[in-house]
Amino acid sequence: MSALFARMTLYGEKVMNRRRFLSSLPWAGAVFASGASASAFLKPVSSSGQTAGDRLQNLFENSPFVNASDTTTTAPLTGIISGPKFNQEYIDKLKQGRVTVVHASIVFWLYDDFYHATYRLYDFYKFLEGHQNDLRMVWNFSDIETAQREGKIAIVLHAHSPSVTDGDVRRLHILQKLGLRVMIFSHQQRSPLAEGAGEHRDGGLSQLGKYMLREMNKLHMIADFAHTSDQTLLDAVEISTDPIIVSHTCCRALTPHKSKALLHRNISDEGIKAVAQNGGVVGIMALTPHLLPEGYGKSAPLSLYVDHIEHVVQTAGVDHAGIGTEISYLGILQDFQSVINDTTARLGDNTPVMDTYRGFENQEKGTEPVARGMDDMALAKRNLIEELARRKYSDEDIRKILGANFLRVYERVLGR
Ligand SMILES: [Zn+2]
Repeated sequence: MSALFARMTLYGEKVMNRRRFLSSLPWAGAVFASGASASAFLKPVSSSGQTAGDRLQNLFENSPFVNASDTTTTAPLTGIISGPKFNQEYIDKLKQGRVTVVHASIVFWLYDDFYHATYRLYDFYKFLEGHQNDLRMVWNFSDIETAQREGKIAIVLHAHSPSVTDGDVRRLHILQKLGLRVMIFSHQQRSPLAEGAGEHRDGGLSQLGKYMLREMNKLHMIADFAHTSDQTLLDAVEISTDPIIVSHTCCRALTPHKSKALLHRNISDEGIKAVAQNGGVVGIMALTPHLLPEGYGKSAPLSLYVDHIEHVVQTAGVDHAGIGTEISYLGILQDFQSVINDTTARLGDNTPVMDTYRGFENQEKGTEPVARGMDDMALAKRNLIEELARRKYSDEDIRKILGANFLRVYERVLGR
């Protein structure tokens, strides 16, 4: 199917009515900008002697690229995590890599409460004020469109833990008014809302979790089920009237960890199908320890990363696969043992979240933290396009995987 048709069907019928609006978006590309008629959308983009190189460059410049979990953005704010800063140098990398949207986590751990969240939000506002020429905060879908028109990166504020609400729905309302748009329901351990992926029993969503999910639907917030248990995800799909996301995970069918703390961190096939059933998206994580089956060496090639994407496509269809790298400070540490040491030093040895990290200890010493080709956001999009094109994905499908699927969810849930 042609790239032009892809644009026509990106959001279905509605896109046709918004042709003028779309003509202003960089990823709408030359077709809309040239004022072509609707019938021209059906013309294959490669029909006029476009070289393979032209095709890849065209995709690089004109496809959306959404990273639904970029914890580099958390590092300068929490003070917990060491590593690269969310600074001008990193922003330049995102721009160079033609990144459209980044989910920035205002909090990370399960004990980051409402009090902490308000300070992190303040830190973020100050940070965004200082980088107004490069970044735009997303209050609704229109901000993503505007960011694109202005050549800025759209920042979606994301909580990596529901602890920011203190289990109080009024605080969820306040955080929504302050700009929070995505929230994970548990972070490995059980939260008052939901079972976490690291627990050994699985009670799914609690009554409070169900209530919070319904409130998030009303508040136009995106509910995220990364780090949660299998039953939590299935319960959420039953209840949510909006698409839900799993912002960053790998596929359990390809990488079933032996460690109980890790086994359920990767999504099951049943989970992938459930996300698809309600129109959501599964973002694939680029962290080697999650991607790589135990005993398979020390580094994850880009092809393995794309295998996980492809597994989502084969299990539930191309409309439900996306990118959520979770690359953060892990990217610069020499190996995963350093991460364990670093986190233990900062959080203490008694923190339950350390169980998750200890689950990686079976991995070979010296395992690289990030899949090759995904560790530099200036290059990740190019590398992905090349690998997906090599696997004969159409322009339309590449565009969906890189970001159009998440854009569909933003438009539906955040509204304008
Ligand atoms: Zn995470």
